Amino acid sequence: MQNINNYNFSGKKALIRVDFNVPLDNDLNVTDNTRINAAIPTIKKVLSSGGAVILMSHLGRPKNGPEAKFSLANIVDQVSNLVGVNVKFANDCIGNNVQGLAQSLQSGEVLLLENLRFHRGEKKGDEEFAKQLSALGDVYINDAFGTAHRAHASTAIIAQFFPNDKMFGYLIEKEIESVSKVMNNSEKPVTAIIGGAKVSSKIIIIENLLDKVDHLIIGGGMAYTFAKAQGGKVGNSLVEEDFIGTATSILEQAASKNVQLLIPIDSIAADNFSNDTNTQNCSTNNIPEGYMGLDIGEKAVVENVACILSSKTILWNGPMGVFEMSKFQKGTEEIAKAVAQATSNGAFSLVGGGDSVAAVNKFNLANDVSHVSTGGGAMLEYLEGKELPGIAAILN
Ligand code: AMP
Repeated sequence: MQNINNYNFSGKKALIRVDFNVPLDNDLNVTDNTRINAAIPTIKKVLSSGGAVILMSHLGRPKNGPEAKFSLANIVDQVSNLVGVNVKFANDCIGNNVQGLAQSLQSGEVLLLENLRFHRGEKKGDEEFAKQLSALGDVYINDAFGTAHRAHASTAIIAQFFPNDKMFGYLIEKEIESVSKVMNNSEKPVTAIIGGAKVSSKIIIIENLLDKVDHLIIGGGMAYTFAKAQGGKVGNSLVEEDFIGTATSILEQAASKNVQLLIPIDSIAADNFSNDTNTQNCSTNNIPEGYMGLDIGEKAVVENVACILSSKTILWNGPMGVFEMSKFQKGTEEIAKAVAQATSNGAFSLVGGGDSVAAVNKFNLANDVSHVSTGGGAMLEYLEGKELPGIAAILN
């Protein structure tokens, strides 16, 4: 397999699949350039090694062909500023015009293609569409982790046209390395913190983790299905009745595998799903009727923080409570701080998948953990142990 660090890009055109699916405001200005920034090291590596760069991405969810609000023309200036090169733009991603622009591209230059999803062949994983894209470059780099779980033309199908010239960019490399540090080469003790709304969406991850971790901290809405499975009274808390059996089975598996499973001892319970409500700190197994657990309680915070601080490897997916409301953010905030503290003490920490990423950002701790994943759905599937088509296409 080729590697971006030792590949000779001199005189070559690198076709890089990036994830520039950035949020735009009503005036079509980029409101958060995190994803563009994340691709810069890969782009700069090719340019500084004597290559030219052709960038391809999707933006939003166009339904039937081109739509101005989903045009990547809206982000050209941002990309130019961040790369430090005047980026050229092609108003389509296949066809004669683009081919001409690609052919005349010189070393050190960058060309951004129009939204891949303006063509239906992208999401369908159409081989002919992928072949036309592949004709634009000499080497293929996949650096779009956010879409690595999709077998789209530009993320997976295209790789076959570059049997000896395909590789990961730095961003995907780091994501793969981070998951591997948690799942394969982890330094013990390993702790996974799994929160969020529902058990049903996290079962496969939890079952996959039971073979890898020493401690499993459960938080968020899903904790109440576990508490009920243990015979607790959880009032009006979120419970998935259909998954009580699953929760029981997970509790049994954890016991037989010697995994310490921490269900929050206490909870912040409220009589209304709102920030403007009455709350009380009560035992998770004894939540009064009419009240629902919306955050982990004070004792649970103390127990979880101690567990996190004693860990050498930490994975965090999903908030501990309804952290979007200030009354129920404390549990998530304290956990985020503990993960940051453990990291500064030398632990490796990966925050991945959805709302826990939003949480570390909210509490300004994204720079204090080892890695914050850029791929929500992709990270979830990766942690479930699934093969991601975008990764498999490069490895195979
Ligand atoms: P997920 O996407 O499954 O990770 O779930 C994230 C969502 O779970 C967030 O929007 C939280 O507000 C919500 N959540 C966390 N704790 C609770 C809870 N105790 N009850 C209801 N929803 C919760």
